Amino acid sequence: MKSHAKVVVVGGGVVGASVLYHLTKAGWKDVLLIERAELTSGSTWHAAGGMHTVNGDPNVAKLQQYTIELYKEIERISGQSCGVHITGGIMLAGTRERLDWLKMAKARGRYLGMDLEIISVDEAAKLFPLMDKSHFTGAMYDPIEGHVDPYGVTHAYAKSAQIGGADIVRQTLVTDLKARTDGSWDVITDHGNVHAEHVVNAAGLWAREVGRMVGIELPILAMEHQYLITGDMPELAGRKEQLHAIDFEGEIYIRQERGGMLMGTYERAGVPWSEVTTPWDFGQDLLPNDLERIAPSLEVGFAHFPALGGAGIRKVVNGPFTFAPDGNPLVGPIRGLKNFWVACGVMAGFSQGGGVGLALSRWMVDGDPGADIWGMDVARYGDWTTMAYTNAKVRENYSRRFSIRFPNEELPAARPLRTTPIYEKLQAEHAVFGDYCGLEHPLWFAPSAREAEDLISFRRSNAHPHVAAECKAVQNSVGLLEISNYGKFDIRGPATAEWLSHMMANRVPAVGRIALTPMLNGRGKLIGDFTMCRVAADHVFLVGTYAAETYYMRWFERHLPASGVTVRPCAMEYVGLSVAGPHSRALLQSLVRDDLSTAAFPFMSFKRMEIGMVPGYVGRVSFTGDLGFEIWVTTDYQRALYDLLVKAGRDYGLKLFGGRALNAMRIEKSFGSWAREYRPIYGPFEAGLDRFVDFKKSEFIGRSAAAEEKDSGGALRLVTFKVDATDADAIGDEPIWHDGKTVGWVTSGAFGHRVNHSLALGYVPAALARADAGFEIEIIGERHKAHRLTGAAFDASGKLMRT
Ligand SMILES: Cc1cc2nc3c(=O)[nH]c(=O)nc-3n(C[C@H](O)[C@H](O)[C@H](O)COP(=O)(O)OP(=O)(O)OC[C@H]3O[C@@H](n4cnc5c(N)ncnc54)[C@H](O)[C@@H]3O)c2cc1C
Repeated sequence: MKSHAKVVVVGGGVVGASVLYHLTKAGWKDVLLIERAELTSGSTWHAAGGMHTVNGDPNVAKLQQYTIELYKEIERISGQSCGVHITGGIMLAGTRERLDWLKMAKARGRYLGMDLEIISVDEAAKLFPLMDKSHFTGAMYDPIEGHVDPYGVTHAYAKSAQIGGADIVRQTLVTDLKARTDGSWDVITDHGNVHAEHVVNAAGLWAREVGRMVGIELPILAMEHQYLITGDMPELAGRKEQLHAIDFEGEIYIRQERGGMLMGTYERAGVPWSEVTTPWDFGQDLLPNDLERIAPSLEVGFAHFPALGGAGIRKVVNGPFTFAPDGNPLVGPIRGLKNFWVACGVMAGFSQGGGVGLALSRWMVDGDPGADIWGMDVARYGDWTTMAYTNAKVRENYSRRFSIRFPNEELPAARPLRTTPIYEKLQAEHAVFGDYCGLEHPLWFAPSAREAEDLISFRRSNAHPHVAAECKAVQNSVGLLEISNYGKFDIRGPATAEWLSHMMANRVPAVGRIALTPMLNGRGKLIGDFTMCRVAADHVFLVGTYAAETYYMRWFERHLPASGVTVRPCAMEYVGLSVAGPHSRALLQSLVRDDLSTAAFPFMSFKRMEIGMVPGYVGRVSFTGDLGFEIWVTTDYQRALYDLLVKAGRDYGLKLFGGRALNAMRIEKSFGSWAREYRPIYGPFEAGLDRFVDFKKSEFIGRSAAAEEKDSGGALRLVTFKVDATDADAIGDEPIWHDGKTVGWVTSGAFGHRVNHSLALGYVPAALARADAGFEIEIIGERHKAHRLTGAAFDASGKLMRT
C-alpha cells in the first residue's frame, strides 16, 4: 500500500467506488480506496438493485437521473457489465389521495424532463398482469425504472477509477484517523499507515464507527430490510421481463426475477440493526429471516397479486442498510474538521450513488458541489440529532417509505423534543404545532382543543378558516407570533463590519439599523439570506434560517480571519415574539419608554429596550409585510414577555397567529424564503434581491459573478402569480406552463387571505418574466390560469411597513 495519497476513500461499497471514480474523472488521480474485506462487503452485496428516478426533492431526483444514465459510461470504460435492465415501472395507487400524489409527482417530473405518465388501472394491468385490478384506482408509468447487478455496478465504478489512475487496497481495515495540524490525515490501518490530504468516509454500514474515529456522531442508523424471491411461476413462463411495480397501499415493491418474482417491503414494524455499534466481523452475512414481521405486508401483497400466493418462497434476504432521519444521503464536508468528507447514509445506492459521487468529487476538487444538494448536505442536521432522536426518526421514515406525506402533515416521532418556555401557554390556546429541527413551533390556533388537529389533505384543510382569521387579525388589528425558530448568530470584535461586508452582498448597516442581505458563494449563487442587526460598531446580531445553522457556520468558519471577529450561533439563547398589524405600535408603545414613532424609530431600526421589566432587542421589521416589530429576549424572559404582550394586547384586539399565516402573508408580499425561493441554483438578480446587492462597497464573495449576472440579467426570474385555483393551492414544485409548454416551477404557494386569492411564487425564464398572459400552474394534475403580478399582491408599495 502506498504511504501517501491525495485522498483516501474509506469503504468499497457502491458509494465509495463511485466517489473514487468521480474523483479520477474530475482530475485527481492520486486517490486510494481502502476496503476492509472485498468490494461490496457492506449493504451493497445483497441489495435488490432496484433503481428509480422519483424523489420528493427535485434536486435529488436530478442526481438519481444522472446515476441511471451513468451506467452506460462506466460499462464502456471498464468493460464490466452493470447488469442494467431498464424495464420501466408502475406506481400503483389504491386511493384518491395516492392518485393525487402521483399526479403531483408526474407534474414535478415534468420540469425535470422526466417522461412520467398517469395511466388507468386497465392500462396498468396490461403492463403488469399479476395485479388484481379491484384494489387499485390508477397508476403512474415511468419508462426508466429498472434494476442493476450490485456487484457489477460496484466493480464497474472501481475498474473505471483504476483505469483513471486510482488505487484500491482490499482486506485492509482502517482502524483510526488522526488529524495533523496542517489539516491532513494519518490513516491508520491494520496493514500500515497512509498520509492523506483528504479523507472520505464512505463506510456505509460502519460510517458511524469511522465518524467516531474523528469525534463525530453521524445521524444514521441501519434498519433490517427483507425481500423474498418466489419459486418459478407458470404465469411468467415464456414472458419477457415485466416491469417493476410499487404498490403503495401494500408498502411493497415487486419485480420479476428470472422465472419468479422478487417482492420487498418496508414494513410498519421495522427493526433497527446494531443500534449503537456495528460489529466489525459482520461481512457478506445475512440476518435471520423474520417473515412474521412482514406478514401484514405479505398478506396485502398476496391479495393484490394473487398468483404469488401459490408460487412458494424460494429465497428470503434480510440485510441491513443505513438511513439518515429523513432518508436522504449525508454528503459533504464536516463543520470543524478540515479535509474530512462524508458520503454515507445512502439508502438507495443504485439510484443515488452516482449523483453522490459526482457532487462530492466536485465539492472536493472545485470547492463547490456544482449543484443544489441542500437535500443531501450533511450540514442540514445539527445538535438535536442525538442517537435516540435519529433512532426514532429513522424508524418512522422507514415505516413510511411508501406513505404519502401530505403538505400539511407533521410527523409524530421524537416529539415533543425541544420546546420554548411558552410552549404550554400556546398549547392552552389550542396551538397546532409543527416540528422544525426538533423544535415545536405553532402552525395555527384552533378555536377549541377538540379542533386542534390538522386533517391531512392536498387540498385546503380544516385549518383554512382559522388561518384566514389569523391573517385578518394581522391586517385589521394586531397579531402575536412566536418567532423562536430562527437561526441567530452573535458576531463580535473590531473586524465585525469588515468581515461581514466581505461575506454578505449588502452593506453592513449603521449602528441601530437593520439590513437584509443575501449571502453568495463564489459562483454568485444564493447560499443564504439574513437580517443583519447592528447592535454596536463591533457587534452584529444576525438572524437567518435555523435549519441551515451548521451549513452557515461551516461557511463562516472557513472564511474567518485568525483574529478580530468571532461568530457564535445562539439560536436557542434568544427566543422571540413578533407583533404585527396596524395596532402593533400602540400595543408595544404601551409597554416601552422608547418612542416608537416612525420619526424616532423608523422601519429597519434596531434597539435594546426594556419591555416592562423584560430587557430585549426590538427590531422594526416584520415578515408579514405589515407594520410590525420583532422582539428577541433571552430564554428566561420569554414567558414574562408573552404574558405582558397578551395582557396589554386585550385592549388592541390581539390574536395569536402561527407559521401557516406567516407563510401566506410573506407570499402575499413576494418575500422569499431559504430552501424555497433562495437556493444555490439561483442568483440574486434572478431571485429579485438586486436591491440588496451593493456594488458600491468593496469586494465581497461572489461579487464578480453577481456583476456578470446583473449585466446578463440572469437566466431565470422569480415571479408572483395570482392563481385561479379552486379547492387546492400550490404548495411548491408544481410546473408553470406558458402557451402550452412547461417553462418553470413553483417554489411556494398559499391562499392569500388578506388579498382573498390563491398565490404562487415561482421561477420562469427571464425572457418570459414580462409576458402578460398565457401562464398556467398545474395543481394536482389540473392546469389553472395564473396571472403574473407586477409587484407584491399585498401592499406593493411597502407603505404599511414603513409608516
Ligand atoms: C436487503 C436490501 C435490499 C436493498 N435493495 C436496494 C435496491 O433495490 N436499490 C437500491 O438502490 N438500494 C438497495 N439497498 C440499499 C443499498 O444496499 C445501499 O444503498 C448501498 O449498498 C449503500 O452502499 P455504501 O457504499 O454506502 O455502503 P456499504 O455497502 O455498506 O459499503 C461500505 C463498505 O465500507 C467498508 N468499510 C467500512 N468500514 C471500513 C473501514 N474502517 N476500513 C475499510 N473498509 C471499511 C465495508 O467493508 C463495506 O464494503 C438494499 C439494501 C438491503 C439491505
